[in-house]
Amino acid sequence: NENLPVPAYFIITFFISRLKSSINKSKAWTTTLNQRPNNLLNDPETLTLASSDYGNMVKETPAAVLQPSSINDIVQLISYAYNNPIPFQIAARGQGHSVRGQAMAKNGVVIDMSALRRNRKTPGIVVSCRRWTTGEFYVDVGGEQLWIDVLNETLGYGMTPVSWTDYLYITVGGTLSNAGISGQSFRYGPQVSNVVEMDVVTGKGNMMTCSPKKNCELFHAVLGGLGQFGIIARARIALEPAPIRVKWVRMLYTNFAAFTKDQEHLISLNGRKQMNALDYLEGLVLLHHNKPDNWRSSFFPPSDHSRIISLANQNSIIYCLEVVKYYDHHTQSTVDKDLEVLLQGLDYESGFKFEKDVTYVEFLNRVRTGELKLQSKGLWDVPHPWLNLFVPRSRIMDFNSGVFKDIVLRRNITKGPILIYPMNRSKWDERNSTVIPDEEVFYTIGFLNSSGFDDWKKFEEQNEEILEYCGKSGIEIKQYLPHYKTQTQWIQHFGSKWTNFQHNKFKFDPKNILSPGQKIFNS
Ligand code: FAD
Repeated sequence: NENLPVPAYFIITFFISRLKSSINKSKAWTTTLNQRPNNLLNDPETLTLASSDYGNMVKETPAAVLQPSSINDIVQLISYAYNNPIPFQIAARGQGHSVRGQAMAKNGVVIDMSALRRNRKTPGIVVSCRRWTTGEFYVDVGGEQLWIDVLNETLGYGMTPVSWTDYLYITVGGTLSNAGISGQSFRYGPQVSNVVEMDVVTGKGNMMTCSPKKNCELFHAVLGGLGQFGIIARARIALEPAPIRVKWVRMLYTNFAAFTKDQEHLISLNGRKQMNALDYLEGLVLLHHNKPDNWRSSFFPPSDHSRIISLANQNSIIYCLEVVKYYDHHTQSTVDKDLEVLLQGLDYESGFKFEKDVTYVEFLNRVRTGELKLQSKGLWDVPHPWLNLFVPRSRIMDFNSGVFKDIVLRRNITKGPILIYPMNRSKWDERNSTVIPDEEVFYTIGFLNSSGFDDWKKFEEQNEEILEYCGKSGIEIKQYLPHYKTQTQWIQHFGSKWTNFQHNKFKFDPKNILSPGQKIFNS
């Protein structure tokens, strides 16, 4: 078909030629004929779905969408692109929960990883015991799997991964391509610090097993590698015994210095096996015009809403420290006392401590309830002009005065949570592709705004102003889930890691096939 874009033409020709040869080889040609072409779609509906993402601000249409039923389908597609005289670009699309087109492939092929989840013939999540003597467990997970399914499967064995994201309906491949952070990161590191082995399909179409000991260059490149070096087919993730319930506490502060001092004190207790440590720590900025509960979770008792609003009104801006201590049958009787000891001496506003006791799953899956509520009102699939930053601890007070208390209050447009919590650099592996500030303690700050379809630009203007302020004030932030328009900006983002990042690109994806939506090598 002369009207088809070039890559689609090549792919379809390729599959038809494969079909012809398999028809010749096999008598079961009718089955093959019915199945094979269905894998590669270019109907308008499928293309439209692959042309947008959770951000709803970028639209890039691929030539075709591959719906694989095995990793082999992916290997064949990439090999074909690589060996083609005119290579075409390919992006794995996990759940498409990026916000700036990172999982798109304009005029190329998007691999719909959800099809692999639905259609694969082998199990996508397998729990095993590494050493019976020490009780070391791990789970082998397909890159296309959702974290919620990993949670449910591993809990069946009384085990659980230890590092999470706040939201669980995203894929293992998608979060490992970034880092995967949440309130557990201060203690267990990001999700990329908890992977022990992977199978990866490189940009040359080679399937490689890698770990810190085997093909370690590929292993570390892929973790936090923004999809640039290969498609994660399988990740092996360490497991620990699962708790049953959690004590979940929120405390309100009017004083930012007291708030950050308490956060930093609590994350200094961070040994993996340490008993007197929290299991999760995050924080929120609450503005006078926001409701105390937002889509992230409903927490505060409705009867307390009015006094929380009044505290926020009096101060324009207040800060919420959020912590969690897990417990099981063995620790049930001591958890309250343990938590009391941990929270002793904290400087929150008297009378503004709130507590909940929920199951481990309810806690980890807390964002889902808010999502379903928003979906029912048609408010989930709206533009999301998000900005996520890592800010060095030494400049967090400046960030508060220049960004929260000036830009954010002055513009007064915030519509969504603002997250703020610290983490420890020592829990991150320097060899991975992830980029973080050069200080032991740094904060993650997320401006998670939702907007209307015609007013997202004003949030982008606010984001620009925040970035400009940091630049002018010499606050050496790093973007998380980064987005840049030029390669010069990417080089600046990666800093001393750029040379290695580029070297790995030449080595594992020399024809620049993978994840073009990140716009690193084709900006
Ligand atoms: P996609 O958006 O589909 O893909 C992201 C990138 O990874 C693309 O470049 C894509 O090509 C590549 N990719 C996808 N699959 C693979 C694979 N198998 N192998 C190699 N590359 C691949 N992040 C956090 O860290 N912590 C949070 O708490 C958190 N909360 C969130 C809450 C919500 C509501 C949303 C929408 C996002 C949140 N995120 C969070 C961000 C999220 O982790 C990233 O956007 C992640 O990329 C989403 O996964 P996905 O499966 O949708 O990936």
